Amino acid sequence: MKYDIKITKTTEPKNKPQDESKLGFGKVFTDHMFIMDYNDEQGWHDGRIVPFGPMPIHPASTVLHYGAEIFEGMKAYRTVDNEICLFRPMDNIRRLNDSAERLCLPLLDEEGCLDILKTIVEIEKDWVPKAEGTSLYLRPYMFGNDPHLGVHAVHNATFVVICSPVGAYYAEGINPVKIAIESTDVRAVKGGTGYAKCGGNYAASLRAGQKAELAGYTQVLWLDGVHRKYIEEVGSMNVMFKVDGKIITPELTGSVLPGVTRRSCIALLKEWGYEVEERLFSVQELFEAAKNGKLEEAWGTGTAAVVSPIGQLFYEGEAYTVSNNLIGEVTQKLYDNLTGIQWGKIKDEHNWIVKVCNG
Ligand SMILES: *Cc1c(COP(=O)(O)O)cnc(C)c1O
Repeated sequence: MKYDIKITKTTEPKNKPQDESKLGFGKVFTDHMFIMDYNDEQGWHDGRIVPFGPMPIHPASTVLHYGAEIFEGMKAYRTVDNEICLFRPMDNIRRLNDSAERLCLPLLDEEGCLDILKTIVEIEKDWVPKAEGTSLYLRPYMFGNDPHLGVHAVHNATFVVICSPVGAYYAEGINPVKIAIESTDVRAVKGGTGYAKCGGNYAASLRAGQKAELAGYTQVLWLDGVHRKYIEEVGSMNVMFKVDGKIITPELTGSVLPGVTRRSCIALLKEWGYEVEERLFSVQELFEAAKNGKLEEAWGTGTAAVVSPIGQLFYEGEAYTVSNNLIGEVTQKLYDNLTGIQWGKIKDEHNWIVKVCNG
């Protein structure tokens, strides 16, 4: 089912960034945005692409008081053949609906949502940057928008898609990052919203993130909320370790975000013949492996960073260096293959790529 989309083009198109090496992440936005409203009577209605700009919001709106917000993060790529493509978009759309279900927000028709994404990307196709490593980041998000203060499931909601041309996620590029393992704050617990991509998870994570940053670390590695013992994930990435030739990644316990990049890495690793263990992995086991010289590589996976090598882990006063603070072989191979598929340099044998239009 496709949603009706009314298109109003801007009369004041902005200048596109000249120096694509300075794009950074999420600082520049395109000329247009998609908005669609929901209420119980009409369902999703009034889908529209309008000039990018502020949206009026009721001061009592649910999202402002009770944090009813979910989002997705995905990218449109300009391939070497100058086609504009998405990577596994249905995975993001399904996860958006899983998040919506958890927060009592209305679901979207999956095909209709894909059509919305393709439509806005095609309109903004000239904003998809050309330089290697760059892409057009898409941020679909939904929030509860009831204009009163009672606490109950949402009856009015808004779905928005904004687009931002982005460069490499980390200022350091693909150099290994320093990660601090957090032992006080927790991000999520079983039965909570850890598996949903919702703004509230991030709100709760900011304090630890700030503490880590002040101490010179790029991100926080979260432990499980009950035992503070098992590794869950890193800031906005899932995490994987190569220990004694095997790949270990935390299982999806309900408090871990099911990443599309994680899923894609697991598929590639298995095809390459690696044993991949999705299981509980304690911080003690990790450091035991590090001390015995069996921790060979560690990396994070996520759409924004793709694959991000971890060069140093810090925990309760001790720092551990991983793979001599160099990018490991498997980490590099995953990065090369995933980005190769995304940029059309490597044949897509998994049907992960969805073409939007010619560039
Ligand atoms: C989005 C996100 C990830 C990575 O998911 P991808 O689908 O690979 O981008 C990992 N952890 C958290 C907390 C996230 O929000």
